[in-house]
Amino acid sequence: MLRQFELVDLVKAYDVNADEKLLNRAYVYSLRAHGTQKRDSGDPYFSHPVEVAGILTQFKFDCTTIAAALLHDTVEDTVATLADIEEKFGSEVAHVVDGVTKISKLELQSEDTKQAENFRKLVLAMATDIRVLFVKLADRLHNMRTLHFIKDPERRRKIARETLDIYAPLAGRVGVQKIKETFEDLAFRELNPQAYEMMNSRLDYLRTASGALSTDPIDEIVTNLRDLLIKGDLQARVFGRIKSPYSIWHKMVTRNLTFEQLCDILAFRIIVKTIPECYQVLGIIHSAYWVIPGRFKDYISTPKMNNYQSLHTAVISPKYQRIEIQIRTEEMDLAAEYGLAAHWQYKQDVRAYEGKQYAWVRGLLQIVEQTSNPEEFLEDTKLEMFQDQVFCFTERGEMIILPKGVTVIDFAYAVDSELGDHVIQAKINGKLRPLKTVLQNGDQVELTTSLEQTPQPEWIAFVSTGKARAHIRQFLRKQHKKKALDRGRQKLAESGVIASDEKLKSVLEIFKCHTVEDLCEIVGDDLVSVDEVIKELPKEKILPVP
Ligand code: MN
Repeated sequence: MLRQFELVDLVKAYDVNADEKLLNRAYVYSLRAHGTQKRDSGDPYFSHPVEVAGILTQFKFDCTTIAAALLHDTVEDTVATLADIEEKFGSEVAHVVDGVTKISKLELQSEDTKQAENFRKLVLAMATDIRVLFVKLADRLHNMRTLHFIKDPERRRKIARETLDIYAPLAGRVGVQKIKETFEDLAFRELNPQAYEMMNSRLDYLRTASGALSTDPIDEIVTNLRDLLIKGDLQARVFGRIKSPYSIWHKMVTRNLTFEQLCDILAFRIIVKTIPECYQVLGIIHSAYWVIPGRFKDYISTPKMNNYQSLHTAVISPKYQRIEIQIRTEEMDLAAEYGLAAHWQYKQDVRAYEGKQYAWVRGLLQIVEQTSNPEEFLEDTKLEMFQDQVFCFTERGEMIILPKGVTVIDFAYAVDSELGDHVIQAKINGKLRPLKTVLQNGDQVELTTSLEQTPQPEWIAFVSTGKARAHIRQFLRKQHKKKALDRGRQKLAESGVIASDEKLKSVLEIFKCHTVEDLCEIVGDDLVSVDEVIKELPKEKILPVP
């Protein structure tokens, strides 16, 4: 366990202005508050908040976050109250502790609704201060590392499942790749121990079998890459690694690939000084190795949602292995390692949610505000979180960010709902394309509208965003209603019976309708026949023939 002065030293190492007193007070307060409480491992409970604080120092978080981490379980698990924390440590620390506490309260309830409610609270809390999320991630990381101490297998599985479903994608979203992978691997080991063992033994085999050839496959390729770069007169740092068991297994299962078909088992990273050098490296690699088609991605010109930047490619190594290569600058590498936390180190204004990197938090928040059904909410937000994004542009160059797989129609609705309703023709990058065309990153879309045009029923099959679907459905429902109404009126008129609105009103109750329109509509839809209506109508008095 980190001792008090060790923790303070860790913080001071990256922040010379660290508020030492605050850290010391939080350490002592938490130590006393947790007293003799024990963890499942038998360790003193206090070791947990200290570990969580320690994890956060790796991301160079400010003193508020570290203090909140030390105190994060005091309100939940000890006699301390939020008011105590606020009085002793100020409102900022208290706010983060409160956010973390609110989430913990709902944790590990069995039903989906509870999980959704929990997630909803997390979104609300992190939208007011993203540090809540980082404390929560560090908290979960330590709990996952010590998961095996929990005796109840059912409880272990629940924690692992929640980690995989919610916390791993969130860690990915804020760009802390290492935490994401650790979550996935630890959860994978708990949820599917056989597959986990299988993956590990295959990866071991990969290491040792080539060990028999006297060189490590990774070292060999690293040397190869270094030689190529030296010849190209480029200074670069080159690393290699074997990807995590979960990520490999997940790809095998979801893409239905064999272990041998995967390009992602051996991954290499080349770090250079400037962006032009990144492309130079790419050129050198592509001309030296066989390129695997369809695997090149330029996240430098179009960064991922979490601001991740890098060039990705996959090639066949001289030893016929498929390998993945990432090329980026030092700065991009720092951002990739620390994610939003790296951003944090430069910019201290937590409540600045204007930046692009927080767009997704705002997106989640909007869903929270719009959805009352918790299950629907979980479904919607999961979609938002898991789908990768495409960046497209309007005619005027305005960037529109949409989930991957969207079509021109989705795009039109995203820009403006009127535009969606009346779009008749689209040019993508200057060429005429059908409205159902799936958009690619960087596409510039020019739309032509016509007032004659209205949403078509077949569009439903071409859209994937909620906004487009809702608008099209709403229009079609209205249109259907109107057609049925007209048809109903016509049928009644054709029957030869004088069915005035006055007369129809007198039979509304029989057909459980509120208005004459409702009645005409069900007649139009053939839910009720004209004869049935006529039978109920008050009979005309037949005037005696004089
Ligand atoms: Mn905790």
